Amino acid sequence: MKAAVFHKPGEPLAIETVDDPKPGKGQAIIKVKHCGICGTDLHATEEHSTAADGTVMGHEFTGEIVDFGTHKPEGWKEGDRLVSIPFLGCGECIHCHMGRPWNCATKKIIGSDVPGGYAEYTQVHLNEAIKLPDSVSWQEGALVEPLAVGIHGVRAASSVEGKNVLIIGAGPIGLATALWCNFFGARHVVISELDQGRADMAMRFGATAMVNAKGDVAAQFEQIAGAGPDVIFECVGIPGMIGQCVMMAPYGCEVVVVGFCTHPDTFMPAVAMAQEVTMKFVIAYTKDDFQFVVDMIASDRINIDHMVTDIVGFEEFPDSFEALRNPSDQCKVLLDPFS
Ligand SMILES: [Zn+2]
Ligand SMILES: [Zn+2]
Repeated sequence: MKAAVFHKPGEPLAIETVDDPKPGKGQAIIKVKHCGICGTDLHATEEHSTAADGTVMGHEFTGEIVDFGTHKPEGWKEGDRLVSIPFLGCGECIHCHMGRPWNCATKKIIGSDVPGGYAEYTQVHLNEAIKLPDSVSWQEGALVEPLAVGIHGVRAASSVEGKNVLIIGAGPIGLATALWCNFFGARHVVISELDQGRADMAMRFGATAMVNAKGDVAAQFEQIAGAGPDVIFECVGIPGMIGQCVMMAPYGCEVVVVGFCTHPDTFMPAVAMAQEVTMKFVIAYTKDDFQFVVDMIASDRINIDHMVTDIVGFEEFPDSFEALRNPSDQCKVLLDPFS
């Protein structure tokens, strides 16, 4: 099959013929309809890359079942449209049964450990898959994963209803967080961002105000909301951000850390203690997060039409991927492997 293959940092992805995926027990092969480009993939291909030579990335995919291999799990048939959590869990441990395959001890990450959706076909474990009703388009299907990241973080807060919310960073995670905070009835959804283009995008996604991340964020927030934030979502993921959240947290504030940071970081515990701050760390999503996003799209309860800004075939894909390294007004760019 055709796939976009990563070789090394500084080199665009190469369109090559690679081995077709082979389904294991409980798995299926899907024909990829769309796969979104994720910031995680851009990071993984930068200098000090963590991705192995030959990796086929892509974890924001949707498609239809074309093969089951030797064993066809009950309740599924060829042609079924689906999205899937991009992990191959064992399907048998408590974590897999509870719909959180991230914690499965033997899980493999699709688009990292096994070839992902930047290809004509990819494999899924049906325990992690969710059927797409006809009212969910392929474009919308490809948006389920990034929206699920957002809802997982928002659900980790005790509640956002009627609350004053501050979101640090208007990258894709910050945008999805803004959308769900608005959806669940937050009073103020204020986003702190350096880039004006991204901040404008956040306003289209449900943010109710923006503040300049370069200025005094706490003071700007108070001017808008008349009080400090009840909940802060850290959606940047670089060292120093948690410390900043703690410094501006008023008494009883909840800080939810969604931004993925792989470097050591520090904050002042005494400051967090003085304000009795609650801090939560979250990762990825559960199967129910995925199902909820699908249900809300299927019933037209969220408006995400403006989220996809481009759909490209393999020919343009490597250039489109590279272009996303620089700020632009692109939001989600999708690959259509068969266009
Ligand atoms: Zn992603
Ligand atoms: Zn498992």
